[in-house]
Amino acid sequence: MKNKKWLMISLGAALLIALGIGIVSLVKGYFILAPSVQILPQGDEVQVVAAHSDYTAPKVTARKGNVDLTHLLTVGGSVDTAVLGDHTITYTLTYEGKTYTAQQIVRVQDLDAPVLQLTGDAEMTVSARSLYREPGYTAQDNCDGDVTGQVSVTYAQKDDVLTVTYTVLDAAGNAAQLHRVVTLRDIVPPTVTLAGRDTVYIRCGRSFTDPGATAADDLDGDVTGKITHNGSVNTDAVGTYTVTYEAADAAGNTGSASRKVIVYEPYSSAVGTVYLTFDDGPSYLTEEVLDVLAANGVKATFFILDYSTGHRWLIQRMINEGHTVGIHGYSHDYATIYANDEAFMQNIYLLRDKLLADFGYNATAIRFPGGSSNGISRAYNEGIMTRLAQRVQQEGFRYFDWTLSSGDAAGSVVPTDTIYSNVTQGLQHGTNMVLMHDAYGKDTTAEALQDIIDYAYGNGYTFRAIDGSTPDIHHGILN
Ligand code: ZN
Repeated sequence: MKNKKWLMISLGAALLIALGIGIVSLVKGYFILAPSVQILPQGDEVQVVAAHSDYTAPKVTARKGNVDLTHLLTVGGSVDTAVLGDHTITYTLTYEGKTYTAQQIVRVQDLDAPVLQLTGDAEMTVSARSLYREPGYTAQDNCDGDVTGQVSVTYAQKDDVLTVTYTVLDAAGNAAQLHRVVTLRDIVPPTVTLAGRDTVYIRCGRSFTDPGATAADDLDGDVTGKITHNGSVNTDAVGTYTVTYEAADAAGNTGSASRKVIVYEPYSSAVGTVYLTFDDGPSYLTEEVLDVLAANGVKATFFILDYSTGHRWLIQRMINEGHTVGIHGYSHDYATIYANDEAFMQNIYLLRDKLLADFGYNATAIRFPGGSSNGISRAYNEGIMTRLAQRVQQEGFRYFDWTLSSGDAAGSVVPTDTIYSNVTQGLQHGTNMVLMHDAYGKDTTAEALQDIIDYAYGNGYTFRAIDGSTPDIHHGILN
């Protein structure tokens, strides 16, 4: 009989009922006639509730004989279901000058198993058991907290199915279990990775050196040696060729990658003009830049700084090979050259006069250090760019900014591929003026140059050096 058991409340009544008398209660030392006051909690004497559950006190009534005394009851104590163990609720009633109490034990127990969760999929396929990497799991118990560290993991393999079983117990012995089913089958093809670019432009008549590819398989490792090449390139015939590199793993899965090789003839169409401009030279890199330009018949523009006697031959070579020599400045030091208008003009004329004296070359193209849009000069002389832009033109010079930056000045060493993609993705039909640098340390600019030229030619652009027909390329002035 677990339910609705009467709790005889007064000490005396309880004692007497226990003795089987049942008609007299002893209260505060007095004998009184039965029936005693009775307090009747519903439910068990010991009520078990789950930890962290919502506890609701049971309904309690009190009576003496047929008289309902429930309205006189007071309740003492409370149940915090976050605290494991016994909690006592005391019911008290005073009637006809006497006080009666009843108690109920509420026992809070951990009745819930930990919550076990798998990270990743419960069903997986991996190429081999040796390649199975546990994706992880967590176990959280409402009483014990994080019990992830107590999860035991066991493995059972049958044929090509590996069953991973995760089991965890909390301190109260509640258990949770999950499984992960891992199919062991190699369905992953090798990954084929191109060396070099995925689109290559080759000038008609030149040779194509295949940069090759590498292949790696998750199970077999490096399978580069198994690569087969499909497709050929005839560099004597304009066209678009595809070379496919294919590799198979031991299970027969094949992976592949393709490269497009575009054999072009320059000037086949003219969608735009590219003015390559090189600032801050000459340097040890200038010769390499000149060699690449010469090999491709490309004319460009060099906005130079003051040059040493040892570099004079480079300037001569620029002139001889049809490039334009422009003036960047005798000095590049912003604080000096933008101190005032006269300082700037002197900086221009010093270099203009040196070129005249050394080569009889009259340089009229200017590029302002930092560009006409530089935000630096105002720190030295506010408004100076507005005045200089007018003044250099009044004195017979033309200044050129750029439509497209190679980004090669964005860091000490900008990767070749970054420079290549900055320029090739930035080219637009019409006039392009590309900012590059042949200064000390800009090796990657020189490295990217050949491919940039091939890309531009291959996409129908022509190259020009700045001359009298070149349109003004001016930024907005910011001073
Ligand atoms: Zn510069």
